[in-house]
Amino acid sequence: MIDLHSHTSESDGSLTPKELIDLAVRTGLEALAITDHDTFSGYEKALPLAQAAGLDLVHGIELNSRVNSSPAARYAHILAYFVSHAPGAEFVSWLSETRRERADRNEKLAASLRANGVDITLADVEKKGRSLTGRPHFARVLVEKGYAKSLEDAFQRYLGEEAPSYVHRDSLTTAETVALVRAGGGIPVVAHPIRLGMDRAAERAFLEDAKAAGLMGLEVYHSEHSPALQQYYLALAQELHLLPTGGSDYHGPSVKPDIELGSGRNGNVSVPLSFLTGLRAF
Ligand code: AMP
Ligand code: ZN
Ligand code: FE
Ligand code: FE
Repeated sequence: MIDLHSHTSESDGSLTPKELIDLAVRTGLEALAITDHDTFSGYEKALPLAQAAGLDLVHGIELNSRVNSSPAARYAHILAYFVSHAPGAEFVSWLSETRRERADRNEKLAASLRANGVDITLADVEKKGRSLTGRPHFARVLVEKGYAKSLEDAFQRYLGEEAPSYVHRDSLTTAETVALVRAGGGIPVVAHPIRLGMDRAAERAFLEDAKAAGLMGLEVYHSEHSPALQQYYLALAQELHLLPTGGSDYHGPSVKPDIELGSGRNGNVSVPLSFLTGLRAF
């Protein structure tokens, strides 16, 4: 079993890099990709520990993008895997700009929540994170302060795209993001396509356009994909000549307690080693 999508406490996961590596070893994973949002620091901290434990650790990241240049465009998450090249210097410096943009969004989100009657400061939220603050950290504060019953409730009422206090991220388009990943030596993959929220035809057209811009893979197996959907995305990846990938999108027990490393939600994820071999063939 392998897992090509996971988060540590260096982004919005709840396990430290060390705790995640220990869990991967206990789970018997043959390979694990750490794909924190906007940062490599979890991967970098975990690498010597993984090497000592004999775990094949894959260098990855998860990036936000807008599906087109409209300010109100939906978002597509892009996973980038660096299986044969270390990330290039320009890519790494673009990442620090991305983190500044995230910090700016976080300021605006705290202000927007206050404008919506929530007693919250960015400092309250930043205490929950380490190197990077994300909406799941806001969700934890909202739950602790009694504004929401659960993480899901906090997203529904305050943090999600439909909520009145929602603040857009000023991300690059998917085409631009994919091109940057390619230029930086990475393999770009559209993560959890179910979350695009598009109908089948629009989703297919979006993936075809992204492929023309340099997209190389599609996340077929994911905790939010039913078995039938996984079969659909596997066939679609083959048809569009995209490399299939998969992972649990593990965030740790205190962020998404129903998702297990390696096996997803109630065992709905099982990623074959051949998916990683496929990435490495490039
Ligand atoms: P951010 O990168 O700070 O905008 O936060 C995005 C992260 O929030 C995602 O990667 C998910 O982990 C989480 N997230 C987004 N939407 C939801 C939702 N509706 N319910 C629970 N978690 C969500
Ligand atoms: Zn996350
Ligand atoms: Fe994601
Ligand atoms: Fe993720």
